[in-house]
Amino acid sequence: MSSSVTSSLTATLESELESLRAADLERSLRVVRRVHGAEVEIDGSRAIDFSSNDYLGLATDSRLAAAAEQAIREHGLGSGASRLISGNSPEHEALERALADFFDAESALSFSTGYAANVGTIAALAGRGDVIFSDALNHASLIDGCRLSRATVHVYPHGDTRALRALLASHRATARRALIVSDGMFSMDGDIAPLPEIVSLARGFDAWTYVDDAHAAGVLGHNGRGTPELLGVESEIDVLVGTLGKAFGAAGAYVLGSATLRQYLINRARSFVFSTGPMPAQAAAARTAIEIVQNEPELRQRVNENARQLRSALNAGDGDAHIISVRVGDAAATVRLGATLMEHGFLVGAVRPPTVPDGTSRLRISVSAAHTPDQIERFADTFAAIARQ
Ligand SMILES: *Cc1c(COP(=O)(O)O)cnc(C)c1O
Repeated sequence: MSSSVTSSLTATLESELESLRAADLERSLRVVRRVHGAEVEIDGSRAIDFSSNDYLGLATDSRLAAAAEQAIREHGLGSGASRLISGNSPEHEALERALADFFDAESALSFSTGYAANVGTIAALAGRGDVIFSDALNHASLIDGCRLSRATVHVYPHGDTRALRALLASHRATARRALIVSDGMFSMDGDIAPLPEIVSLARGFDAWTYVDDAHAAGVLGHNGRGTPELLGVESEIDVLVGTLGKAFGAAGAYVLGSATLRQYLINRARSFVFSTGPMPAQAAAARTAIEIVQNEPELRQRVNENARQLRSALNAGDGDAHIISVRVGDAAATVRLGATLMEHGFLVGAVRPPTVPDGTSRLRISVSAAHTPDQIERFADTFAAIARQ
């Protein structure tokens, strides 16, 4: 590679990074070592983590590690090929049976990540001539799946089912297939999609429903089956997606639906077809996590109780959603607030554009079953003291 080519590239990228820096939007990696429970070590200093999606504290659970170790001894590390070639391990099949059982679904197909599940599945279900109705605050992987599909996409204002109805009325009839896509619990503010209304609109306008429940699966609902269970619409969602990297403490993701949907995606979801199968050990760990979620409902209760305790201490509204968002507005101020909390030993998410719209930067505080009441109290006191200044 000639150095003039390289330096032209570097100069171009450097100037783009400079604009990000000037707008306080440049991000950098920090090294985070998980110590125990919610305790982490960041670039050498100890902190209590209020930023992770490890809502049940399972990421450092020794039972998941033991299941992964056992699977590595039995199957080796990599799966060696895509699952359609020779990479379909008994661990993948066992995980998918466990997922279908746990969620009381006809069928499950697992993917390497939630990102891969969404881009692959949406693009497989919709194409040119089809129409997708998408909530304005949907996760980036849903947005990317919509774009990749080449379907016509209509974005409706966040949670606004009247606007959704109007868009369906205007654009459904001329399209071939129609898909309504929404997060179940929204990642930034922890609020919940109006699934009963969405399901009823879908029925009225002959559209399919696609729900990504990454933040609620394993946590919400009597059995931990997430937002559709909480809202009583489980049997009415056509496609339910979730990740195994958040509450389940492992990695990977799944798509739940009919056996036909599974067989179709095996043939048509490009992120499934053209990607090496996930590590069998990751599937084994996830299956252990599902068993734990099934057998230990007290974990869900603890997240809810912890969330209630923190919400009430922060005056952050009622309810027990485990994601609490504190709107700051300005990106630089949000970063400063995050840094001050870090100096006091608390790690929270400082969320800036492009993750959220301009001028709506916020602190994203997430609560886990691994937090002790004492950690929550100390965090709330520190937060209140800093907010007062
Ligand atoms: C985290 C997240 C994903 C991506 O899942 P990964 O397994 O981390 O790739 C998809 N959708 C939503 C709503 C998420 O919050």
